[in-house]
Amino acid sequence: MREGSPFPREETLDPVDWSEVERIAVGAVSDAVRYLRKVRERPVWQPIPAEVRAGFRACVPDRPTPLVEVMRELQDTVMPYPMGNIHPRFWAWFMGSGSFTGALADFLAGVQGSNLGGGDHAAVHLDRQVVDWCRQMVGMSKTTAGTLVDGGSAANLIGLTVARNAMAGIDVRAEGVAAVEAPLRFYGSDQVHCCHRKAVEALGLGNRALRRIASDKAYRIDLDRLRKAIAEDRAEGFRPVCVIATAGTVNTGSIDDLGALADLCAAEGMWLHVDGCIGALLSIAPRSAHLVEGLARADSLALDPHKWLHAPFSVGCALIRDGALLRQAYATMPEYLETAPRGIAAGPWLHQSGPETTRNFRALKVWMLLKEHGTAKFGRLIDQNVDQARHLASLVEAHPRLTLVAPQVINIVCFRYDPGNLDEVACKALNVEIMLRLQDKGIAVLSDTALLGSHTLRAAICNHRTTSADIDLLAREVVRIGDELSAATHTKPVLESSPATVK
Ligand SMILES: *Cc1c(COP(=O)(O)O)cnc(C)c1O
Repeated sequence: MREGSPFPREETLDPVDWSEVERIAVGAVSDAVRYLRKVRERPVWQPIPAEVRAGFRACVPDRPTPLVEVMRELQDTVMPYPMGNIHPRFWAWFMGSGSFTGALADFLAGVQGSNLGGGDHAAVHLDRQVVDWCRQMVGMSKTTAGTLVDGGSAANLIGLTVARNAMAGIDVRAEGVAAVEAPLRFYGSDQVHCCHRKAVEALGLGNRALRRIASDKAYRIDLDRLRKAIAEDRAEGFRPVCVIATAGTVNTGSIDDLGALADLCAAEGMWLHVDGCIGALLSIAPRSAHLVEGLARADSLALDPHKWLHAPFSVGCALIRDGALLRQAYATMPEYLETAPRGIAAGPWLHQSGPETTRNFRALKVWMLLKEHGTAKFGRLIDQNVDQARHLASLVEAHPRLTLVAPQVINIVCFRYDPGNLDEVACKALNVEIMLRLQDKGIAVLSDTALLGSHTLRAAICNHRTTSADIDLLAREVVRIGDELSAATHTKPVLESSPATVK
């Protein structure tokens, strides 16, 4: 206590005993290393027991708990029940599998505690460098500006916002969408990710402003249908402004013909936005880069370093080829954030390149991962996942009771167990049960989807821990469980179809 302090009971969150905190933290790091080293030995996923679940409903504490005890509770109630995406046999939806370096970066970002809204400090410059590294990886021109955000959904929203503002023909920021003369139209295939619906709704355009064009047999946008829709809309007084191409669709991994779409947009005077959340980083994979040729011609691009760069959640990146348009979409200079001639407030102000003001230091994990491994290693890992998917597809094709439901292009395999004597409803119920048993036993986590009315299991191998032996095991287990269920006489109770989902 300071002599003569007017506030004798001033407090801080800092520990009284720093060496005790250090001991706890060192222990936490050892636990974390062991946790990751042994990840393969644990079930991919396991249900949370009722008593643990009850703990998550406890009231807000008003009393302190020693940090050691807080850590112990965490070890008992949180760490054993992860989503599972760090496990070598997690292949549901489309997620990265994390990395120790990325986790370390998140810790250090928190320790440094900087706010990336802007200002002249190292984290801000590092953030800008990471955005530029993203640009370099996908090969976009040097005029490009971008911003790191929470994920692909936010990155897509930014791309579509800039597209709307650039193409509306009026100052939308000042006048609002209601003042736009002809209703704006965006186009994507029927395989477009659901975040684009949220985006056009948030932009005040409404879901109907995004026309879904039927895809072809390979689940790519059908160019003839797209041209026809644009002409139709023009004739009816709409203003076609933007095509959303997908480089790696979430259902099947199909990649729209990016070169042809860039040509079409140039000819029609439209904006090309590429949703590259899955596939943009194929650009750094030596054997797969050709699949996304034309990507760099995008006017705007969304990509997701928390997928194929395995940065812990979350980090996405929006890139806009004409960088000035990004700043025009978000620039504001309130008096309380004015730039000073020197010192910390000399800028740059990153909040002027996106919707957020306070921004976290998510750049650090991407920076550390790229420094540590280099793009060549990530490129090889991406090719490795594509090879593993091809391996799974070949196992499926070789087995009489497994069927490939869509062509395998990148790292996504859509397949199902099909004994050949079931209708669609029964086949779906059987495959859902296979998926749930794989989960319940902690063997593997897959997800499912529907393609042209056919239910399918889906393995998205975005995982640097997966080996080909894991893939062999998956194929074997799906067949084993499928055979077991088909042989059982009373399969009825488990063969109930799950409720339809809202698109
Ligand atoms: C993952 C994904 C998104 C959404 O990205 P989030 O990071 O989950 O917000 C959008 N589009 C595609 C094609 C995706 O795979």
